Amino acid sequence: MVYDARHPLKYDQQNYFVITHQNITERKLAEQKVRDLARMDGLTNIANRRYFDEFLNAEWRRCLRLELPISLAIIDLDHFKLLNDTYGHQHGDQCLIKIGKLLKQFVNRSSDICARYGGEEFAIVLGNTSTTEAQALLASLLDEIAHLDIANPNSSVQPYLTASIGLATLHPSFGLHENILVHQADNMLYKAKEKGRDRIES
Ligand code: GH3
Ligand code: MG
Ligand code: MG
Repeated sequence: MVYDARHPLKYDQQNYFVITHQNITERKLAEQKVRDLARMDGLTNIANRRYFDEFLNAEWRRCLRLELPISLAIIDLDHFKLLNDTYGHQHGDQCLIKIGKLLKQFVNRSSDICARYGGEEFAIVLGNTSTTEAQALLASLLDEIAHLDIANPNSSVQPYLTASIGLATLHPSFGLHENILVHQADNMLYKAKEKGRDRIES
């Protein structure tokens, strides 16, 4: 029961007030940790698909309000199945972790995120970023992936691990859903694969 100034606790013709303290810091921190974990991919420690969807929706709406362009890249590792077949699934996992670490270095603004989109596919959202700016950033990402020099000897592209990137940029407008951005990036990725992989299509 809570006693307040209007309803003091009467005892022996005296008014008493009851004050209780509860430290909720620990509980709040635990809740925050659960929330963070639910947003992370367990293997690569970057955002998972669920948080990616949430982030893209929020950034899309922000860019709509501020009339800014938004770019989305879907990054698919080339012939990753061959890498697994050559060196085993566990080695493949270690390679995915390396790629996740590298991607993190490419997103530094609060309007950007990198995420594990699924399997050996990753995604990068770049708020307030034009196609030209995104292309420059992604070109250096492809360079850095090559520099990791992860062996994939049976790949038809290079003897090391490469990636294909589908890029889409839009100015959000009312009536458009952010799914269209995902759809376009997906189509561009398909084209990049068709054209020989290890490239960006936009
Ligand atoms: P492509 O260049 O056409 O993309 O060829 P690919 O071999 O990368 O594509 P495919 O879709 O045929 O195979 C994807 C491979 O990614 C197969 C699957 O075992 C592997 N993969 C997906 N998720 C994981 C994972 O969590 N760990 C490991 N080690 N491999 C994974
Ligand atoms: Mg794939
Ligand atoms: Mg692949």
